[in-house]
Amino acid sequence: MSFLDMDERILEIAARVEVVYSPLVDLKEFPADVDVTIVEGGVSSEEDLHKIRMVRSRTKLLIALGDCAVTSNVPGMRNTFKVDDVMKRAYFENADLKQQVPSDVIPKLLPRTRPVHEVVPVDVFLPGCPPPADVIFGALVSLLDGTTPDLSGTRFGR
Ligand code: SF4
Repeated sequence: MSFLDMDERILEIAARVEVVYSPLVDLKEFPADVDVTIVEGGVSSEEDLHKIRMVRSRTKLLIALGDCAVTSNVPGMRNTFKVDDVMKRAYFENADLKQQVPSDVIPKLLPRTRPVHEVVPVDVFLPGCPPPADVIFGALVSLLDGTTPDLSGTRFGR
């Protein structure tokens, strides 16, 4: 949503980039030789881990966007519990019907949710929940201009 909060400035960014992979792009496979990838969310499952390693291997500069990616934040709230207890809570105690753990539709959870930089190198951190739109815009413009992003608008800069 912070992306959309850039309002008309998003057009300025769009004119200077080619979006090759996103939920809005109908491409199933993450392409090779990507210049910049922006990742949201923590690394919670074996599928997440596989995906972020693949993404890292195919991108030159990786941005961790938002507290969930930077610190594990909300998905990391489960980290004080065992995976079995989390699953039991979600699929048995909180379910009125069909109390069972789905075995083939959800990826296997890791023992704890990890921030992105714990599993692959991250080049730029944009914290915040959500990150301020001005910071996202400024960082993207800086990268497009070939300069170092100014993160003073984030709490890292304070
Ligand atoms: S807004 Fe906050 S909770 Fe939602 S994905 Fe971003 S960092 Fe996580």
